[in-house]
Amino acid sequence: MNLFVPAEGERKGGLLTSSEACPNCGSYDNLVKDSRADTLGRRRRRRCNICRTAWSTIEVDKVLVKRLAAVVGRLDEVAVQINGIRELLQAATVTDEEVESEEG
Ligand SMILES: [Zn+2]
Repeated sequence: MNLFVPAEGERKGGLLTSSEACPNCGSYDNLVKDSRADTLGRRRRRRCNICRTAWSTIEVDKVLVKRLAAVVGRLDEVAVQINGIRELLQAATVTDEEVESEEG
């Protein structure tokens, strides 16, 4: 399964788009200067027609956001397990002196 390519039927989840309002003056009157697909979705370079501020918006598939959230949740669980194993290993660490006394 490729995380970044939702199956055809999954696309009905819709898109999340970052704000198209100018970050400087709040106007929605802007021009798209560039549009390209990247791994997360579609990125658009915009320029405000009022104050000329340039910024980028990104459109991300909601299905992808849900999948990534699930992956992050699983990674958190794995991190907790790794920490548990690390604590067990630290508790089980044997010093050189202990090894020597066992050998002697
Ligand atoms: Zn503006």
